[in-house]
Amino acid sequence: MKKSIDKIRNIGFVAHIDAGKTTTTERILFLTGKIHRLGEVHEGTATMDYLPEEKERGITITAAATTCFWNNHQINIVDTPGHVDFTVEVERALRILDGVVVILDAEAGVEPQTETVWHQADRYQVPRIIFVNKMDKIGASPFKTVSEIEETLGVTPLVLQIPIGVEKEFSGLLDVLSGTAYKFDQNGNFERLPEVPSNLRDDLKFYQDLLLDILTEFDDDLMEYYVSTGELSLDLARIAIRKGTLRGNVVPVLFGSAYKNIGIHQLLDSIVDYLPSPIDLPPVSGFNPITLNTEVREPNPNQPLAALAFKVVTDPYVGTLVYVRVYSGTIFSGSYVLNASTDSKERASRILRMHANHREEVDELSAGDIGAILGLKSVKTGHTLTETDRPLLLENISLPEPVISVSIKPVNKSDQTKFQSAIRKILDEDPSLKLTWNEETGESLLSGMGELHLEIVANRLRREFRVPVTVGRPRVAYRETITNSTIAEGKYIKQTGGRGQYGHVILQVEPLERGTGIVFEEKLKGMNIPREFIPSIEKGVNEALQKGPLTKSPVVDLRVVLLDGSHHEVDSSDIAFKEAAKRAIKIALNNANPILLEPYMDLEVRVPEAELGEVIGFITSRRGKITELKEKGRTKIIRARAPLGELLDFATSLRSITHGYGTFTMQFDTYEPVLEGLLPSILEKLNGE
Ligand code: GDP
Repeated sequence: MKKSIDKIRNIGFVAHIDAGKTTTTERILFLTGKIHRLGEVHEGTATMDYLPEEKERGITITAAATTCFWNNHQINIVDTPGHVDFTVEVERALRILDGVVVILDAEAGVEPQTETVWHQADRYQVPRIIFVNKMDKIGASPFKTVSEIEETLGVTPLVLQIPIGVEKEFSGLLDVLSGTAYKFDQNGNFERLPEVPSNLRDDLKFYQDLLLDILTEFDDDLMEYYVSTGELSLDLARIAIRKGTLRGNVVPVLFGSAYKNIGIHQLLDSIVDYLPSPIDLPPVSGFNPITLNTEVREPNPNQPLAALAFKVVTDPYVGTLVYVRVYSGTIFSGSYVLNASTDSKERASRILRMHANHREEVDELSAGDIGAILGLKSVKTGHTLTETDRPLLLENISLPEPVISVSIKPVNKSDQTKFQSAIRKILDEDPSLKLTWNEETGESLLSGMGELHLEIVANRLRREFRVPVTVGRPRVAYRETITNSTIAEGKYIKQTGGRGQYGHVILQVEPLERGTGIVFEEKLKGMNIPREFIPSIEKGVNEALQKGPLTKSPVVDLRVVLLDGSHHEVDSSDIAFKEAAKRAIKIALNNANPILLEPYMDLEVRVPEAELGEVIGFITSRRGKITELKEKGRTKIIRARAPLGELLDFATSLRSITHGYGTFTMQFDTYEPVLEGLLPSILEKLNGE
């Protein structure tokens, strides 16, 4: 079934772990008629979760997309991860989504990960609605949650429903706009009550007035209608809610219990009514690599193709699936497209639309839509697909640098080839992972965003690819940088009989701000170095910067300027210039006063009041700084910053201090210089490993 673009909703669900994202998605897929059997998460049969690893943990880590239909609209649900270790996956999802449903647990309220993701969504200006789930749970507190939304997330909540009953008594919803009350049975079927329950009449009046106040503040049409008739127009109010949601003035708040099938129907209605379609959003722009100009592409199937690959998955049955979001134009099955990021032509041999329990082969995928393509070999996450003669580069998905690594190898030497190909596949799927080869120890080093991230890779190797692996202790990914500017000369000259080698460069290095990475520039005057050798020099520079002088960690945040050098008509070669550049960099780094950088993490820890002091003591003894202290009921919330190197056993320590009641989340913040006094002990530890 093909829908016109204004009838498409590309959405994702985000939630703190256990708030009910999987259950809600399941219920939606069930209700939209695309799955025929209800799978409960704890039985490990949820339809969206398809890696064995996910079923075991009960958390969702892939960003596959599933399509369902509701009220004549096509809803593409992009799966987003629930754990902060997978921030990159959340960011990636937010890039290609048009709207988000934030699911809260009615008892726990706004939890730390919700806050983190909320602020990420702010950055991408993604319109949101909130679904307050678990209204049937003991301790569910709908209006405390609404206040928390206002206070913690700093937004104006639009309460669109009043729950009928809470906890065990939760049985229905009163729609604020229409004043209609619905009562639900156990299967999610509902009926309209003849009248508003008498105990809710005052509440209804209050929330209707509030709704009108908020909406008329930014919507003049609604205001005028109200002033002239003294009544609320339902249609105008819905338009106003949609407008306010798209602009981010307000956030609609709905209630329900996914588990008990209450409120799912209404949630789907709101997704269609209030979240944007692809044409509600500004057109994308990209960089034309031929004209070097910025170009805009409208969300129109007839414009030139521009699609972003946001996830590459190796599927055991069909091969490599590239999930794409099409921004403009149309991809036809069997046609050739250009991977504008690598400048290679590829055939999109088949196009699939994923439903909850089956794949549908389609002939085309057009502007605004999301689907999966088979047959693309060179495409990686973040690449842009375009028409073969109309290249454009959409902004790549930004990837954070990995902060932690482990050595990893197959248990059986005979598995080496299988191990290599399996880990390649995993790396292709998840660009926030890195694999490096340590020549000295002969080990592969796998780096990622957190301990759980790496643990999941190891377990996927074991289960999905059937390669038993040994994993070393986690190590912090240090970086090095320089603090002085300096100029150095590197020569690679061998001229003893026959054709020789001749490379000679003069380079300057200078420190840059934290987070800038490596900048390479050439400021050659004259023809001392023919231009054709510059790429080899840059290659040599980058290679040499992979291993800093202190700990052999990558060197970052510096500018390297190629100033001068010389060449020989016959003996100069790419290799000679690359080697000369490596030598120059080695000398330069040693002279530029190198320092070690370590990753600092943002930490949010929840602990029972009784153990607050001890946990704070622990964090500060680990060079951590407490940045904020809050409380939520009897739980204390500590926000802190601390170096990752001191936190590797944090999970175990917290568990033992709080007898298992403490929880925490941790997220990379910045790299910062290691204090000089600590350097010797870190170097000793690193060299001893
Ligand atoms: P996710 O981690 O956000 O995907 O959460 P899940 O959907 O896996 O749900 C976590 C747990 O909460 C599971 O045991 C669910 O059965 C349970 N759960 C989900 N929704 C509800 C609800 O509405 N009410 C209650 N009482 N439990 C729920």
